Amino acid sequence: MIAPGSTLAQARQALPLDPLENRILLCHALHLPRVALITQSERVLTDAEAAQVTALVQRRLDGEPIAYITGEREFFGLSFRVTPAVLIPRPDTELIVELALERAAPRSRLLDMGTGSGAIAVAVASNRPYLDVTALDVSEAALAIASENAAANGARVRFLQSDWFAAVGDERFGVIASNPPYIVAGDRHLAEGDLRFEPIDALTDHGDGLAALRTIVDGAPQHLEDGGWLLLEHGYDQAAAVRALLKARGFDEIGSWRDLGNIERVTGGRFGIDRGDDRRIS
Ligand code: GLN
Repeated sequence: MIAPGSTLAQARQALPLDPLENRILLCHALHLPRVALITQSERVLTDAEAAQVTALVQRRLDGEPIAYITGEREFFGLSFRVTPAVLIPRPDTELIVELALERAAPRSRLLDMGTGSGAIAVAVASNRPYLDVTALDVSEAALAIASENAAANGARVRFLQSDWFAAVGDERFGVIASNPPYIVAGDRHLAEGDLRFEPIDALTDHGDGLAALRTIVDGAPQHLEDGGWLLLEHGYDQAAAVRALLKARGFDEIGSWRDLGNIERVTGGRFGIDRGDDRRIS
């Protein structure tokens, strides 16, 4: 892949991935900042360095996601550590962060359910330091990564190990946000690209794709303050189904919002607006 005695510039040319990925893996393997590819372009790689670059590029050629190879992904302008214990944060998920930020009253409480890498909770908390942010996940390994990400980004987030609402007690929140597993069992995307390497239980409910969404919609009214918002990320073809779930559960102001690809990606609603406790029946 890289001829002996190659310079950085020559190695970069010789690598078989697309130019962006070549650059990322070259810098990662050699612990170099991006600018070094220019300032040190004539530096000759040692054999050990060439072998190191080749090994990472081979992993990528074998299909491993670039974020798992580098252990890092940017989301909402922040850097997140990622491992195969957590989903790789998607640009599409920035939408639910924006919607949550718009709806969270100053100093109110927000809950992120199924936080994974902590992307939603950490992005929200880092943009609204006075919010009281809780993030839960059933996976201990995910919570370890998420709390690292909160600390690394200076975000104040409380973490809770919980199977959806199981460990939430009688707590209530002004906003509940979630990007749960929503891919239908057997969907061909699960066998393609990055998804093959991601934690399967974070991607699919092993059923119709709506199981986790149903559980969250059912439980949310008992954990929302009056007029509180539930915001749910879902699959490209699930918006109408999620709106129907919210309607059946008594939510108001139900709507769906489109992602960067113009696909309805987040659906939400408010519960118990000006109606006091009488609708808080489970
Ligand atoms: N949006 C992801 C995908 O389609 C799935 C994430 C999820 O299931 N929450 O790749």
